[in-house]
Amino acid sequence: MFSPVFPDMGAMRILVDRLASSPTAFVFESEPPWLRSAIQSRPGSPGLVAKPFRFAFRAHRMGEAVCIEGDMRGGVELECGRCLARYRHELEEPFRLVLEPAGNRSPADPEAAETLARDGMCLGEEFETGWYRGSEIQLSGLAREVVALSLPVNPLCSEDCPGLCPICGADRKLENCGCEVSRPRSPFAVLAKLKTRAKSKNHERGTG
Ligand SMILES: [Zn+2]
Ligand SMILES: [Zn+2]
Repeated sequence: MFSPVFPDMGAMRILVDRLASSPTAFVFESEPPWLRSAIQSRPGSPGLVAKPFRFAFRAHRMGEAVCIEGDMRGGVELECGRCLARYRHELEEPFRLVLEPAGNRSPADPEAAETLARDGMCLGEEFETGWYRGSEIQLSGLAREVVALSLPVNPLCSEDCPGLCPICGADRKLENCGCEVSRPRSPFAVLAKLKTRAKSKNHERGTG
């Protein structure tokens, strides 16, 4: 759908030996093949990629460690959990991590060990840290994690979306159907009523 302007995410890798102690800037932009399926597999979210994903970050060496810092921006089409309308959701997720050389160590988690062998890096228990091995670090796994983190758990077209009427199903954002929807009594609503009453009483006294 999108022709990659920058190197494809499959080529989203950095060469450790080329990094210096001053940051090098990287930009990768594309619609990686795993992205569509990752978004569509979310429950209740027939997400579509609405905009290519752009990873812009800087990497530098800090002794033996590799520091990566930047952000991901993209856009997806999601379904609002309240009114079921499709809407465009802008994504923006900053990320920062420090990768230590794995050396002879091996991650306890077999999945992480496999990732380290395949990608030359793996994330630790915390997202901000991880290990690398070898001279080439493949960042597509990291990109996937960042995208997963950025997707909303409860997609909403707007924070105050009134949703569908539970009685007639009308989209209350577009029309006022006038159905009487009984609301649970809120103690605050009762308090507010008492206050207004007290105020009008004072007012009566003032004028009378
Ligand atoms: Zn909505
Ligand atoms: Zn209604």
